[in-house]
Amino acid sequence: MTCGKIDFTCRRCRLSKGRTRVVAGTGTCRSPIVFIGEAPGREEDLKGEPFVGRAGRLLDTTLQGAGAERSRVFICNLVKCRPPGNRRPRKDEIAACSRFLESELKDVRPRVVCALGQTVANSLLGNKKKMADLIKEDRRLTVAGVNVRFFVAYHPAACLYQRKNLSSFKRSIKASIDASGLK
Ligand code: URA
Repeated sequence: MTCGKIDFTCRRCRLSKGRTRVVAGTGTCRSPIVFIGEAPGREEDLKGEPFVGRAGRLLDTTLQGAGAERSRVFICNLVKCRPPGNRRPRKDEIAACSRFLESELKDVRPRVVCALGQTVANSLLGNKKKMADLIKEDRRLTVAGVNVRFFVAYHPAACLYQRKNLSSFKRSIKASIDASGLK
């Protein structure tokens, strides 16, 4: 189910040139928690769904371990089109796409937002802090006019390459699920 208003014909930035599909968030619009990843990768671009590749499978099993099926939460990305070669989305691309993320957040109105990775956290917080500092903090934030508790977890892809991040990732996911009150 699509939440928020997403323009599937969007040409607002250069990422539209290389995409196969616009990848809107998925899950339930009545979720108390929203997970925000960086950008679609190759498999997401082909399928039109966020987190369906290897990183997504790790996110799924971690959610299950924390007592939350994927279908009961809402998962989306900072930008909705795949950057070439999976590079990080640029500031102007994030800005061009922010109306769609805001629309998703306004529609879902979650209690908790969990940013997956430093790029997402830095972009939403407007800072340049490193992961080690970001994951420690428990903060409140107003995003898209919605007041949320804001958590930061390692990006699941970062756990595939550096297994040492895995336990921290699992802890952050569990803490954010628990804070959301999802039963
Ligand atoms: N990485 C992301 O940040 N988002 C996806 O949808 C897939 C991989």
